[in-house]
Amino acid sequence: MPLIKFLGGCREVGRSAVLIESKNGAQCILDYGVRFTTEDRLPSNGNIDNLKAIALSHCHIDHSGGLPLLFKNNDVPLFTNPLTLRISEILLEDMIRISNFPYPFGYRELQKTRKNAFFLKNKVRQKIDENFFITFFNAGHIPGSVSVLVEVDNSRILYTGDINTQETNLISPANPNELPEIDALIIESTYAPREHPLRLDLEKKFIDDTLNIIENGGNVLVPAFGVARSQEILLILEKYNFKSDIFIDGLARKILTEYSQFPDSFKDFARFNSAVRKAKLVSKEWRKKLKKGTKGLIISPSGMLKGGAAIEYIPTFLNDPSSAVFLVGYQVEGTPGRKLIDERIFEFKEDKKRKYQSYDLSIKAKCNIDYYDFSSHADKIHLNNYINDITFRNEAKFIFCVHGDEKSTTSFAKDLTKRDYISVAPETGETYKI
Ligand SMILES: [Zn+2]
Ligand SMILES: [Zn+2]
Repeated sequence: MPLIKFLGGCREVGRSAVLIESKNGAQCILDYGVRFTTEDRLPSNGNIDNLKAIALSHCHIDHSGGLPLLFKNNDVPLFTNPLTLRISEILLEDMIRISNFPYPFGYRELQKTRKNAFFLKNKVRQKIDENFFITFFNAGHIPGSVSVLVEVDNSRILYTGDINTQETNLISPANPNELPEIDALIIESTYAPREHPLRLDLEKKFIDDTLNIIENGGNVLVPAFGVARSQEILLILEKYNFKSDIFIDGLARKILTEYSQFPDSFKDFARFNSAVRKAKLVSKEWRKKLKKGTKGLIISPSGMLKGGAAIEYIPTFLNDPSSAVFLVGYQVEGTPGRKLIDERIFEFKEDKKRKYQSYDLSIKAKCNIDYYDFSSHADKIHLNNYINDITFRNEAKFIFCVHGDEKSTTSFAKDLTKRDYISVAPETGETYKI
């Protein structure tokens, strides 16, 4: 009987990490992320003394941020794919460089992480120990993202990582029908209690609102996450044949260049390239000019206006009644982006250690502000459809609800228990035998 130990990402979004142990004591870790809180940034310490492999679902810091710690005194194979490794490196470098938090690792361990990476293609079964295998399946969340099937002591455990089963412009959705029969499911719960608007309606509204602003002589700032969301917005603009100038700045620009090296990771690479060609990558000199007089649309991180190049443009946009700031991702409570939506006030405090943040701002918005829920996570309906499409091998159908706040994970587990499942929202540090 294998053991599943939850090291993090329990009743929270952040520091995702799961340890799976075979009856022989061989161990495999699925994800090892961080969270941005003052305490417990890293996953809890399991007894990780017989680690055979690490599998990474995708590059987001809440899944990859703690990885270097596992390589401090160890060499263990890290199974991933080239795109996820490359973007993880960029995000981790950034995290180490700008952090005020003393992580117990640095560039040396990051380099070891890279050296230990092995590339695994989707749907290829990889042996990691006696009677212990992993297989990747497309997760549809962001380019390169995978779900991980673990086969251990004749049990099959599927760890979804972050999943999306809705069609996006960048990548194909996760398809539960390609999965084999399983015994236990570890599923993300980010949007378990909520529903997203229909994607096509949302795209049309975003395009109509954008055109409306531009036609009336204004400009649009789209603060977006640098990884995947910025590029998805670019593809939407391409799809609707957007004619005005599009500028890409900050991390989004860097990731765009990286993405161009990995044609296999995209749904339609020709379309992706044609969208990229229409975007102008902003240089430092350009940025100065654009700050004074933009004409068109600027896509720039950070998505929640916590920093990044978007801050440079914000004062110009907020003070212009004909322009707009359109947020395109979920805005966490307490972030400047959330305050801007709720109160139409932008507040930002300079943090001297961060070079690019050179402002101390408090501005009442005169421009248009709106929010578009372009999520890359499955919502209530899609999570339940996904579960319905999965076949369990036995009467006992185990579902562990992780990667969501307290309410999302516990209510999701409760609802599943009312149906035919044995479901819990585990807490960090808990171990289950299946
Ligand atoms: Zn993610
Ligand atoms: Zn996540």
